[in-house]
Amino acid sequence: MKIVKLDPINPDPNKMIEASELIKNGEVVAFPTETVYGLGADATNDKACLKIFEAKGRPPDNPLIVHINSFEMFYKYTDFHDERVLKVMEEIWPGPITLVVKKRNIGNVPTAGLDTVAIRMPGHPIALKLIELSGKPIAAPSANLSGKPSPTKASHVIADLGDKIPMIIDGGDTFFGLESTVIQPLQDKIYILRPGPFSPEELEEKFKMKVILSGGTDNIPRAPGMKYRHYAPNKKLILADGLDEILKLYNENPNSLVLCSRETAEKFEGNKFILGSRENLYEVARNLFHSFRFLDESNYSVGIIEKFQEIGIGYAIMNRIKKAASKN
Ligand code: AMP
Ligand code: MG
Repeated sequence: MKIVKLDPINPDPNKMIEASELIKNGEVVAFPTETVYGLGADATNDKACLKIFEAKGRPPDNPLIVHINSFEMFYKYTDFHDERVLKVMEEIWPGPITLVVKKRNIGNVPTAGLDTVAIRMPGHPIALKLIELSGKPIAAPSANLSGKPSPTKASHVIADLGDKIPMIIDGGDTFFGLESTVIQPLQDKIYILRPGPFSPEELEEKFKMKVILSGGTDNIPRAPGMKYRHYAPNKKLILADGLDEILKLYNENPNSLVLCSRETAEKFEGNKFILGSRENLYEVARNLFHSFRFLDESNYSVGIIEKFQEIGIGYAIMNRIKKAASKN
């Protein structure tokens, strides 16, 4: 696999020509977005999109997110006219929100046969430039092997897909470190299909519409992907509420590693991985998936992870942690 290193703020477009040629020719390329690394292909080319599913080992019924760089592209590939929602999206995009809407001019492979498409304008100069140079919408799920935590560093992509894809654009660590918030606007309501960097509070404030969290009940829309095992390390991970519980679990579980806040780390003497400050949950989000991979590659047998407050991005952090900790 060829590794092309680029400045994430001011990427040299000349160094992205080859990547855009690969996309135009129906190949796949890994690239950074502001959420996680994506594995991209021309969204209008079903054969190219199949290569994404093959490389990742992704179940074919789990649709991909289509990335665009303009509203012109949005209107070309969607059939969605809710002015109230579109006005807000014009403020939010480019950014970490994915919209599920009725599709147009998009095949059945990236959308897994659905009549809707999940679409997003990413807020990352490299991603936007790659779409522009390719002249195509780019379908891109996270660039990890299916079942593994999403990649937030180029090294994660190389570890998972190094022998399976022709190129990665290395733009350093991704900014949010969690996958986008996926929403579906339906009948004056916003359904959150997957929590992400954009919190339920922020959505309510921006859209001034009722925001409904998906999951549980049968009659509200869901993302097909949420039924699959995600985000989790292979090692056992246990959720702990507060220092006392961490200490108790640490003593009960030999050879364990505590994944915790900086504040807890100052009071805890054992084996630890610092996720970030409780006062800056963006820092915790950025380090979360790396900590899962670190645990898997380490010699520790068990992970004990601190509970964080479910406010702002903390809501998505706890969504990923609960899923990861519920698997064993
Ligand atoms: P990933 O690309 O791995 O970040 O995952 C994309 C997420 O969006 C998955 O959970 C998909 O199931 C979900 N998704 C993609 N397309 C649709 C769609 N048309 N309707 C509902 N959810 C979707
Ligand atoms: Mg994924």
